[in-house]
Amino acid sequence: MSRFTLPRDLYYGKGSLEILKTLKGKKAIVVVGGGSMKRFGFLDKTVSYLKEAGMEVKLFENVEPDPSVETVMRGAEAMRDFGPDWIVSIGGGSPIDAAKAMWAFYEYPETTFEQLITPFSFPELRQKARFVAIPSTSGTATEVTAFSVITDYKKGIKYPLADYNITPDIAVLDPEIAETMPPKLTAHTGMDALTHAVEAYVSTLNSPFTDPLALKAIDMVFKYLPDSYNGDKGAREQMHYGQCLAGMAFTNALLGIVHSMAHKTGAAFSTGHIPHGCANAIYLPYVIKYNAKNAEARYADIARFVGLEGASDAELVKKLCGRIDEYNQKLGIPKTLKEFGINETEFKEKVSKIAELAFSDACTGSNPRAVMPADMEKLLNCVYYGTEVNF
Ligand code: FE
Repeated sequence: MSRFTLPRDLYYGKGSLEILKTLKGKKAIVVVGGGSMKRFGFLDKTVSYLKEAGMEVKLFENVEPDPSVETVMRGAEAMRDFGPDWIVSIGGGSPIDAAKAMWAFYEYPETTFEQLITPFSFPELRQKARFVAIPSTSGTATEVTAFSVITDYKKGIKYPLADYNITPDIAVLDPEIAETMPPKLTAHTGMDALTHAVEAYVSTLNSPFTDPLALKAIDMVFKYLPDSYNGDKGAREQMHYGQCLAGMAFTNALLGIVHSMAHKTGAAFSTGHIPHGCANAIYLPYVIKYNAKNAEARYADIARFVGLEGASDAELVKKLCGRIDEYNQKLGIPKTLKEFGINETEFKEKVSKIAELAFSDACTGSNPRAVMPADMEKLLNCVYYGTEVNF
């Protein structure tokens, strides 16, 4: 038996934030990040709409990027003190992910991260509160997914939480909020969305329910990302919806080794963080070439769906990779990790350990072609030097 889960309600379109006025409840806590939502006035709007709904409102502010266990625990405590029946999270992926974890610890104070990291093992939520997610970036799609990533900085571990209990009840896709993204973030998050949809489409868990969402999302990213990157508001709006469709696909079909590699390389090098979407964008064409041995027909479906032509599936896969290269170039994304600026000596020192970690990442299991740590290491070498994937 398989399961397909999405939020109960999705509100979209300019001004859809106003839906908050109609929520029924007594108390709402608003979980938000470092300041852009406040600066652009969306935090004030959120609070005033909730008050208009007759609710008492409390803020939990300053959730940091890559939220920590401590932030989650502080938020859960604030929730236990206040007793909200709505948790409203607004901002990038981080405050929404943090709020999802806070929600679990609010309802189950005795639980631990160790208990929660076993996939799909959460206790039954919604005993105390329901959850609204309002994204300001167009990529992670955390507003519709069953996932959250929390970092334990003391132990140096990321806890990937996965359970349909933390799929939000309501997602609000108000394109005016996504207009706040700067161009580089638009590029990276957009390519993250493309990767979500491509990986979901070829995942071993793909289904008739996820396929149309993934294909439409891929088509929308190719149609709208360049103009969205260049500041076109209409394109930005379509990207906000397209990334959400990608999220609906991958929360149900899961992902693959592009994400395994991005997760484990993101914070691995002393030269600085590789933004998640940028890492995915670099790795995607290489992984397509690796996976094509098992999933050529599926990638060819994608190529045909976005209007590419070719005499064979192999030619279509090549064209799809070419299209991704072309977009990366348009968006200022490098072709290799070397070009990104990762030091060669450090890369060589760390590559086999990273390969092992990527092999054991939660996203590896649904990749369409089996992969061993040694294959992962070869792939990482290809993405570093830009060499052909021919194994
Ligand atoms: Fe992602």
